[in-house]
Amino acid sequence: MTAKNFEVVIVGAGISGCALAYTLARYTDIKSIAIIEKYEGVSTLNSKGTSNSQTIHAGDIETNYTLEKAAITKRTAKMIERYCLGHGLQNDVIYSHQKMALGVGEKEVEFLLHRYEEFHQLFPYMEVWDKEKLKELEPRVVYDEKGNERPEDIVGIGSRDQWTTVDFAKLSQSFIDEIKKEDVKFELFLNTEVKDIQRSGKRGYVLKTPKENFYADFVATDAGAHSLFLAHRMGFGLELGCLPVAGSFYMTEQKLLNGKVYMMQNPKLPFAALHGDPDVLADGNTRFGPTALILPKLERFKPGTYMDFFKTLRFDTDIVTALWKLLKESDIRNYLFTNFLYEIPVLNKYLFLRAAKKIVPGLKMNEFEYAKGFGGVRPQVLDKEKQKLMLGEASIFTGEGLIFNMTPSPGATSCLGNAERDVKYICKYLGKEFNQQHFNDELTEGEYCVLPEPVASQKAMVNLIRAEIARTQEKYMDNTIHNGPNKEFWDNPSSKLK
Ligand SMILES: Cc1cc2nc3c(=O)[nH]c(=O)nc-3n(C[C@H](O)[C@H](O)[C@H](O)COP(=O)(O)OP(=O)(O)OC[C@H]3O[C@@H](n4cnc5c(N)ncnc54)[C@H](O)[C@@H]3O)c2cc1C
Repeated sequence: MTAKNFEVVIVGAGISGCALAYTLARYTDIKSIAIIEKYEGVSTLNSKGTSNSQTIHAGDIETNYTLEKAAITKRTAKMIERYCLGHGLQNDVIYSHQKMALGVGEKEVEFLLHRYEEFHQLFPYMEVWDKEKLKELEPRVVYDEKGNERPEDIVGIGSRDQWTTVDFAKLSQSFIDEIKKEDVKFELFLNTEVKDIQRSGKRGYVLKTPKENFYADFVATDAGAHSLFLAHRMGFGLELGCLPVAGSFYMTEQKLLNGKVYMMQNPKLPFAALHGDPDVLADGNTRFGPTALILPKLERFKPGTYMDFFKTLRFDTDIVTALWKLLKESDIRNYLFTNFLYEIPVLNKYLFLRAAKKIVPGLKMNEFEYAKGFGGVRPQVLDKEKQKLMLGEASIFTGEGLIFNMTPSPGATSCLGNAERDVKYICKYLGKEFNQQHFNDELTEGEYCVLPEPVASQKAMVNLIRAEIARTQEKYMDNTIHNGPNKEFWDNPSSKLK
C-alpha cells in the first residue's frame, strides 16, 4: 500500500467539500490539499442539480427567517453570487429569475406586508405585487382552471432582477477547476470511500480507504449524513443522532411559472411549505416540492446505507423522547403524516394537487407527475442531551485537527460561508495564514450587512406570527457547533505541529 500525505484532507466532494477546498487553495498559504470522494464524480448526491431546489436562499423570501438571521444569510448567499459573476458563470451555473413569497388569504397578506416594511431596508430591491400586478408577472398564481380569479386576497413580495438559482453540481466542478489554477498541490480522489479516520503517530490523522491510506495534519469531513457516521466511529458527537429527511418533487412538462414562488412558511415548520419554480436542468419546466419523508437510510437512490442509518441514529430512550416531543405537536404530526402519503402511488397525486393548488389554483392532474429520481436527503440532527430535533446545520469541532459538518437545507447556499468559518479554524490550528481581506474583497459586499431597526407591528396577529418564528428559530433553527473552539483555542491553538 502506498501512502499519500497532505496538510488538509477533505472527505466528500459535495458543494461543501469543494467550496472548502477552493477557499483553502485561494485564500490561505496551505500548500497541499486533497478531497476524497466515494462516488465517481463531484456532487452526485445532495448537491446534484436534481436533488435540491437550486435556490440561493438569501433571506428575502424565506418567511421563516427573522431579520437578524436574514442579514447573516444575505452575506453568505452573496458569496455564491459574487463567485459566479466573478468567473463569468451567468446562465451556465447561476441564473436570474423573478422570485416571490406568496401570501394567500387575509392573515398571510397582512403578515407579508408587514414583513416587507421590516425587511426592505436590508433587501432594497424587494417589491410588493398585488393581484393586478401578479396577473401580469405570474398569471398562474391568480387564475383557477376556469380562468376565473381566485377568490382569496393574495400578495407577492419579490424581485425581478436578482440571481436566484444555481446548479450546485456545476458550481462544485467550477471550484475544482479554479483550484487547479492556484499554486497548490491538489488532488481529487474519486471512487474512494473513507472507512475510518484514526489518529496517527506519523502525521496528524490517517484516513483508511479500501485502496490506500491517506495522511493529513487536518481532516475536514463534509460527507453529509456520513460526517456523523465517521465522527461516531472516532467517539465524537455521541450525543447526536441523525434523522434523514428525504425530499421528493413533482414535475410539469410546461413552464407554468415564470419564476420562483415560495409560499409562506408555517412558523413552527421552517422550510416545510411547498414551492414551485423553473428547473434550470429541465428547460425551465416547473418543479413543485420538496416533500419531507423520514427514511431509514442515509443516501437517496444509492444502494445500502440502511445499517449506516441505524448506527448513526444511535437509537435509545433520548431519541424516543425527542421524536415523541415532535409528534406531540399537531402541526408537525400532520405534516409528517401527509408527507408520508405523498410517497404512495396514485393517492400521492391527488393529495399533492390539493396542496399545490395553493400556489397554482388552476393546476390540473394531467399537468404534473411524480419526478422519479429527483430529490435528496436532508441530514437533520437530533440532540440527545436536549432531546430535540435541530433544524439548522450542525458541526462538530473536536478541539483537535478534525471538523465534521452536517449540512441540511440550505447548506448549499451557505457553502462559502461555512468554508470561511472552517478555514479560520484550520489555519489557526495549523499555524497558517488566512487572507481575510482578499476573501472579503472578492466574495463579500463589505464586512457585515447593516441590520435595520425592526419595525414594530400594530397588529396582534402579525406579532403572534413573528413571535412564533423567533421562538422556532431559537428552539430549533440556529446552526449548532458542538465543542466549538473556545477563547483559549484562538489564543493558543492546540496543534501538535507548532
Ligand atoms: C430536497 C432538498 C432540497 C434542497 N434545496 C436546497 C436549496 O434550494 N438551496 C440550498 O442551499 N440547499 C438546498 N438543499 C440542501 C443542500 O442540497 C445540501 O445542504 C447540500 O447539497 C449539502 O452539501 P454537502 O456537500 O455538505 O453534502 P453532499 O452534497 O451530500 O455531499 C457529501 C459528499 O460526501 C461523500 N461521502 C460520504 N461519505 C463518504 C465517505 N465515507 N468517503 C468519501 N466520501 C464520502 C458523498 O458521496 C457526497 O459526494 C436541499 C436539500 C434537499 C434534500
